[in-house]
Amino acid sequence: MSNNSSNNSNNNNCSNNDSSSNNSNNNIIQPDQYGRRLKYLRISVTPACNFKCIYCKPHTENSMSLAGEKILSYDDILFVSEVFAGLGVNRLRVTGGEPLVRKDIVPFLSKLSAINGIEEVMITTNGSLLTKYSDDLLKAGVSRLNISLDTLNAERFNYIAGTNTNMFNDTMAGIRTAIRTDFKQVKINAVMIKGFNDDELLDFVNFAAEENIIMRFIEFMPVGNHDLWSKENIITSDMILKQLAHLNPQQLQKDKNTGPAVNYKLSNGATIGIITPITKHFCDDCDKVRLTYDGYIRSCLLDDREIDINDAIKSRDTNMLIECIKEALAIKSKEYDKNSVEVKNGYNRTMSRIGG
Ligand code: SAM
Ligand code: SF4
Repeated sequence: MSNNSSNNSNNNNCSNNDSSSNNSNNNIIQPDQYGRRLKYLRISVTPACNFKCIYCKPHTENSMSLAGEKILSYDDILFVSEVFAGLGVNRLRVTGGEPLVRKDIVPFLSKLSAINGIEEVMITTNGSLLTKYSDDLLKAGVSRLNISLDTLNAERFNYIAGTNTNMFNDTMAGIRTAIRTDFKQVKINAVMIKGFNDDELLDFVNFAAEENIIMRFIEFMPVGNHDLWSKENIITSDMILKQLAHLNPQQLQKDKNTGPAVNYKLSNGATIGIITPITKHFCDDCDKVRLTYDGYIRSCLLDDREIDINDAIKSRDTNMLIECIKEALAIKSKEYDKNSVEVKNGYNRTMSRIGG
């Protein structure tokens, strides 16, 4: 797997054929050819991470080194976000790598929250720095957190996350601090993998009930450490519901914050969500694209085609960027190509380089 997207990027500078384009609300982008309206931008601010999760990227990668990496500046990302907001995007999620390891992330998030038209700034984090950052994130306007936690067992945590013992303690303390902070919502995400953590399903469910948070289970995707991935290792939604049948799962209505999950209320009081990128795709409702830390728009997580927006960013050319965004929407498939998951040998970028 290569670290960059050069083999699949469109480098045509997104030529602007529409001289009337401008970054105002009358430019709100139309639904794509499948009727999906873009509302959500997922922004990766760094490929660096203080963890090396076994399913996310090769353990051999030096997670914290940015040597030789091209990273967009915060001003670059703010420019791109403002253009997206002008086109009707109203929700931003900041991710990575680990977003909280990037220097000066808090003032950047404040500026992101202040963008006209942005209703929510959310963050996806591994939780390890939340004791330090929760209050600051709230003050910066972050409303919702998704925190990744794949096990409740310290020893197993270190194996999965490639960390030392303190990191488990830091992460659990961070999660509890975040829960006590006045965010609109804190969700916990676990990637369920056969033989790794599937025996902890009930522990997670009890944790969710005790802490009164939404616990979401994500099917393992072949983006990252492809050596570990196989169809047989996926814990599917059907398997989860079967194991939890005694808790009488009742499916809940979706709202705009449910995202791709299907949520259930359980009889022990827990709310769980199940995200099924592999067994039941949710492409019909997809309202998002991704901005990579190095200046590409990725229309779909499970599609390596990307639009290079570096020229538009460098020249601060709003019209060119709008054309690039339109191009990214034009190549967004009705649904992802299942062959790319089942046949192809992984994707060009690891998950830590896409942002999840
Ligand atoms: N470092 C942050 C974190 O861990 O939450 C943000 C970035 S991480 C790449 C975003 C999400 O992607 C996490 O919830 C992580 O568990 C998930 N993820 C990473 N690799 C995955 C894989 N192969 N299959 C499914 N989810 C994956
Ligand atoms: Fe880092 Fe998140 Fe990937 Fe784990 S899942 S290695 S915390 S980017």
